[in-house]
Amino acid sequence: MTEQKEEKKRTKNVRLRIVDIDRCVGCQNCMFACSRRTGNAGLEKSCIGVRSVGGMERGFVVVVCRACEDPPCAKVCPVDAITVREEGGVRIDLNKCIGCKNCQDACPLGAIFWDKESNKPLVCVYCGYCAQYCPHNVLALEKTEVSTGSTKEASKEEEKEEEKEAAKGVTA
Ligand code: SF4
Ligand code: SF4
Repeated sequence: MTEQKEEKKRTKNVRLRIVDIDRCVGCQNCMFACSRRTGNAGLEKSCIGVRSVGGMERGFVVVVCRACEDPPCAKVCPVDAITVREEGGVRIDLNKCIGCKNCQDACPLGAIFWDKESNKPLVCVYCGYCAQYCPHNVLALEKTEVSTGSTKEASKEEEKEEEKEAAKGVTA
């Protein structure tokens, strides 16, 4: 197979990665940054979550969208407000959304947050702004090559492994 053909079988997947959860001190700077991205102070509009596992000695979990390859959140939306992004993850059309919370219930990681003001979901946009404000480099925006051809199954296995890792300590 030529290099050019190989290239055609791959797409870029962009998502947030937890580099090292043990470095998280629970400052919530990432949450404040995410809210600020949309011109809001405080934590209410954040699409990322940080919480204590229970006591300082046990550390924290960071809940963040893992950009599932076959996102359950998009599958359950009755009005197709959530669609799959070509570069990984999902996007939401808030004009279509009817606020049913199916997507929130379907996300295995709890990575869809809720905007109480609009009664609509808050979904990660994979911009990496939060990562820039983490003082301990816990987060990073990662761009990975994803196979779309014959090795797709292998990439799915990799995805599953990563999600298992995420579920262990990185996400809730
Ligand atoms: S809350 Fe909105 S985006 Fe989520 S499943 Fe319901 S209609 Fe779709
Ligand atoms: S919000 Fe949840 S289900 Fe949807 S793509 Fe992200 S991790 Fe997957």
